[in-house]
Amino acid sequence: MKRVRGLQCRECGREYPADPIHVCEYCFGPLEVAYDYDAIARLVSRASIAAGPRTLWRYRHLLPIEAEQVVDTHAGFTPLIRAENLGRALGLRNLYVKNDTVNPTFSFKDRPVAMAATKAREFGFDTLACASTGNLAGAVAAAAAKACMRACIFIPADLEPSKIVGASIYGPTVVAVEGTYDDVNRLCSEIADQYAWAFANINMRPYYSEGSKTLAFEVAEQLGWRVPDRVVVPVASGSMFTKIWRGFNELAKVGLVDQARVRMTVAQAEGCAPIVEAFRRHTLSVEPVKPHTIAKSLAIGNPADGYYSLRIVKESGGQAEAATDAEVVEGMRLLARTEGIFAETAGGVTVAVLQKLVEAGKVDRDELVVAYITGNGLKTPEAVAGHLERPLTIPPSFKRFEEQIAAVGLKRQTGAPAATSVA
Ligand SMILES: *Cc1c(COP(=O)(O)O)cnc(C)c1O
Ligand SMILES: [Zn+2]
Repeated sequence: MKRVRGLQCRECGREYPADPIHVCEYCFGPLEVAYDYDAIARLVSRASIAAGPRTLWRYRHLLPIEAEQVVDTHAGFTPLIRAENLGRALGLRNLYVKNDTVNPTFSFKDRPVAMAATKAREFGFDTLACASTGNLAGAVAAAAAKACMRACIFIPADLEPSKIVGASIYGPTVVAVEGTYDDVNRLCSEIADQYAWAFANINMRPYYSEGSKTLAFEVAEQLGWRVPDRVVVPVASGSMFTKIWRGFNELAKVGLVDQARVRMTVAQAEGCAPIVEAFRRHTLSVEPVKPHTIAKSLAIGNPADGYYSLRIVKESGGQAEAATDAEVVEGMRLLARTEGIFAETAGGVTVAVLQKLVEAGKVDRDELVVAYITGNGLKTPEAVAGHLERPLTIPPSFKRFEEQIAAVGLKRQTGAPAATSVA
């Protein structure tokens, strides 16, 4: 019995074989992998998953991979942290942080790319490519290196320097396009029509996007096979957001959890918030915007999965909210100072949006909330560098140390409960 039935159009439902294609020939709707969930239910159990590798491949029966040999960069199975300090700071009693900053290339993009690279090799492509807002570039370049494939990476020319270095080190061809991500994406769609390359987020997109389901699988397993009351997800195209929802629902379908009631919450940057703006207007139709935000990894002005994301927000009883650049910086600092996690700007978006929703009374203090922290702070140090205290510079002298420390004092940690502070 085959687990993967093929691809299916999300709009008209037409079925296609599992080929390197991504749009419906009849209605131009996006294609998605279709599974036989009865076949999957017979293959998986909580125990069989627990006995699997400590990577996202422990969920391989729920993923669109037929090959024995996968492209394995050891992505996934990242920590789910009980965030007591951040919870106290925000006024939440049951807050968890999914720390995806510790993936092989320091963002969650290693998850979808594991699928794209494995399928690309399965289909016989020799070149892996992508249109990237930054993090995809590093993930694709690293996976191509591991898979012994060529890589061609397209980025907006104004990308953060650390992200360019963090992709270039793996030896891909990097093409910096003078334009926004949406320009890069348009160009790549043209190139994908002419070149027999595997573009992770274009012709591989149906498979690529499935990798993000593992963000739901892991959270449920790490909570003892339970679905959280709410998740807060940083959103660019909406791909990860829609796949986290799909992941929780699939766990219920195959009997690994009892139910999948989870309030799906979109977090965007105010300078690029087309989905949040549609939510505020009470419509499902997303108006494209021109991005202007420090959260470059989320700077997609014309989100491919915007409409589907809004439908999920509605269906799940979720929320959509945006944070200003200043709030993003504060969110990054708060997460670092309370939980010891240095996240990139997208993490600041998640924390800041959660804070706003709690303050507005839109999140109950007892809800079990999971905040997805999807990228590492060392990728965007310039976002916070100007907002941090400078080191105390002293000569190597005990006396001078004592003078200086007496003058400024030691700081109390933001997340520390008041009762344990020492005078
Ligand atoms: C790409 C990215 C996202 C959002 O991705 P979409 O699936 O396009 O919505 C979130 N966080 C980080 C750090 C990213 O790199
Ligand atoms: Zn169709």
